[in-house]
Amino acid sequence: MRRSPLKYIAPVFGAVVLLAGALLITRAAGKAPRPNIILISLDTLRADYLGCYGCPLGTSPHIDAFRRESVQFMQALSQARTTATSHMSIFTGLLPPVHRVSSWLRSRDNAKRFDLAQLDERIPTLAQYLRENGYHTVGLHNGGLVSPDFGFQRGFDVYSEQLVPWLRLHKKPLGLRFVQKLLQRAVRNKKPLFLFLHTYTCHAPYIKAPQEMRERFLPHPLADLPVESIPDGSSFWSKYKSFWAAIDGNNEAHRRQVRSLYAAEVNYADWIVGRILALLKENGFYEKALIVLVSDHGEEFWEHGQTSHRQLHIETLHVPLLIKFPGGKDGGKRILDRVGMFDLMPTILDHLRIEPRVPLQARSLLPLIRGRESGHRPVLSFEDGLQFVRFQRGPYVYINGIRTTPGDWLFDAVHDPGETRNLAIARPEVVREMRSVAAGIMEEQRRIRARIVQGAPALRGLAPGLQKQLEALGYL
Ligand SMILES: [Zn+2]
Repeated sequence: MRRSPLKYIAPVFGAVVLLAGALLITRAAGKAPRPNIILISLDTLRADYLGCYGCPLGTSPHIDAFRRESVQFMQALSQARTTATSHMSIFTGLLPPVHRVSSWLRSRDNAKRFDLAQLDERIPTLAQYLRENGYHTVGLHNGGLVSPDFGFQRGFDVYSEQLVPWLRLHKKPLGLRFVQKLLQRAVRNKKPLFLFLHTYTCHAPYIKAPQEMRERFLPHPLADLPVESIPDGSSFWSKYKSFWAAIDGNNEAHRRQVRSLYAAEVNYADWIVGRILALLKENGFYEKALIVLVSDHGEEFWEHGQTSHRQLHIETLHVPLLIKFPGGKDGGKRILDRVGMFDLMPTILDHLRIEPRVPLQARSLLPLIRGRESGHRPVLSFEDGLQFVRFQRGPYVYINGIRTTPGDWLFDAVHDPGETRNLAIARPEVVREMRSVAAGIMEEQRRIRARIVQGAPALRGLAPGLQKQLEALGYL
């Protein structure tokens, strides 16, 4: 009998996932540090569009300079492809099937069907931990999928989408005035500040960058395609739809233009980061602060036949993760091991010596940074936490489908890092084993959810079709 190609999979993989929740906190003598913490989330920023992740286009001079003072994670993967789900993993250190926050689950019909409203009260967030430990907590976000509807306001003293005009900052020289006032007040108050900044600058439609930036990346735009936002007051979604309606995905010139427009948006986001970092420096915050730059997911440009961020392939999950520690400690270090982007949350708690009340699935990155640990971590990513999962074991990346396209994807991550050749048909024995691992992962997630949110209904009121589908896949 042939030996299983997956012999490296631990027999009790679920236990490994659970053990990953044990946050190792090294108790050092002395007072726990309480630096100011600035968490910048640039929505929809795929890593490889930044110079410091290999982009040759000159999109990111400010972020590249910041990288030299930060620890850079070269292979950080998102836990979800969508904004609300991914951000909630950052805020809770839990995987999507455990925190169960998702825009799809909250859609008008599904919210009732799945009995979901917001993040469960029993799950604490990063902002809550920080406020409990003396921080003034402020979130200046760009609305939509990080709005209070999902529970993101939990733990924040101020949580607002009104105070910074994120998508029009180049036209508003005083757009960051509130941030400046906040920093000045924080200096006077002597209370540590946790500031969460979130912007959709890179998100489609890619028509927000100022003209001079756009022309740098797209000097000769095609006629009749949208290149800049018309200030007509139309909604985000109507602009989004009309942008994509004009694009022909089969036309390579259209594709090139879309990618160039995205590069300009990344350049605009980089300019915003530059403004924020300058403010931090001018107000004496930069040097001693812990500053993080991250994205919730990447973006796809027809690599696997789709646009936006609809699938669980590498271009949608590989995100930048840069952490500047107080005093620039470990600055310039590059970590090559694969990590979960949500490992950020326990890293911050670990640095502050705050012990979480519930066991986290994410793990502090400090042992990797300080050389006490090495090797890839078993990173999991999910559609929304109900059934579709992506993971890598040994040389194989496996995805058991997405909502719109159920089916197996199997890639050789060593020889095909861009995930261009689906080996699912050619390696049925590997797929069989991967399916079984996937089912085990989902089962384990349900157990962890039940343990953390005791008495929570498993999946109450599943639609009959989905119930059958999940049963057939072995998830129920
Ligand atoms: Zn997003």
